[in-house]
Amino acid sequence: LNPTNEHFSSEELDVEKKLRPLSFDDFAGQDKVLENLKVFVQAANMRGEALDHTLFHGPPGLGKTTLANILANELNVGIKITSGPVLDKPGDLAGLLTNLEERDVLFIDEIHRLSPIVEEYLYSAMEDFKIDIMIESGPNARTVQIHLNPFTLVGATTRSGLLTSPMRARFGIQSRLQYYNTELLATIVERSASILQVPISLNAAIEIAGRSRGTPRIANALLRRVRDFAQIKGNGSIDMEIAKFGLNALNVDAHGLDEMDNKILSVIIEKFKGGPVGLSTLATAVSENSETIEEVYEPFLIQEGFIMRTPRGREATDKAYKHLGVTKIPKQGN
Ligand code: ADP
Repeated sequence: LNPTNEHFSSEELDVEKKLRPLSFDDFAGQDKVLENLKVFVQAANMRGEALDHTLFHGPPGLGKTTLANILANELNVGIKITSGPVLDKPGDLAGLLTNLEERDVLFIDEIHRLSPIVEEYLYSAMEDFKIDIMIESGPNARTVQIHLNPFTLVGATTRSGLLTSPMRARFGIQSRLQYYNTELLATIVERSASILQVPISLNAAIEIAGRSRGTPRIANALLRRVRDFAQIKGNGSIDMEIAKFGLNALNVDAHGLDEMDNKILSVIIEKFKGGPVGLSTLATAVSENSETIEEVYEPFLIQEGFIMRTPRGREATDKAYKHLGVTKIPKQGN
């Protein structure tokens, strides 16, 4: 149940695709973002132009890839999908760019991980819809300029801070996705349950939603696991009892914190006396890399009030002590 993409099996990714909303109307939440996107898409459609390049940022599993696909659908164009780490040579990018039809969407996930050469190469493509390619080699080698069809680059990143400023400046539309509240997640769970054809009670949907870390991908993953419990240990439909049983068996706690969240809190409290502790020290102590802590775990823990980021490092809040059932020992000389 790790919220990052890479830990999902291919079968799970297939189900995830099935659950993915295809139009603005299917997409729950992120109202401000959607409101604007609808206007920009409608205007681009009326003018028959490509939509401005669009950047989505925010933690994993909140709908960035989904929105890129929805944009292509709503623009009535094709989409090509790739990611920063995959595109390691300008040639790979040139191949993709020259195959885009007019107004198509090119989606680059993890765009902060493009290599500097590829990124540089992307600039003129984004700006003027032109690229230089090298033909022949040796003494005859020369570059020719190729015109591209106007297209929309949709970039997604979990770390907008790692994006270079020239890259960021080339996106006319930039949206930050937020964690979802329980009510919205419950509607997503209900929608997914109906696609998976499993009956679910409203309170069970709310129970799953409340333990999903504000993240639709996790809500869907929990729903699928609870569905298994319903099938094997129950009568196939999901009620409150089976939802609670499944979620407890999966070790998902009442606030939706997962093992790593809890490990982070207990390390800050037990090893570092509640903090402050620096990011890299914390990362070493929990055996995870600092980037993942900062991108995936910390934003939610901060939003939910379990930790605070201070100039001297991360500190556990009273809520974190209470959550772990640890008594706070007042600090001396402070
Ligand atoms: P990201 O690209 O931000 O990591 P995805 O777009 O892959 O996240 O979303 C993960 C899954 O969560 C999708 O398969 C989709 O089913 C679901 N999802 C995300 N956002 C929504 C939403 N607003 N409404 C319904 N389902 C959503």
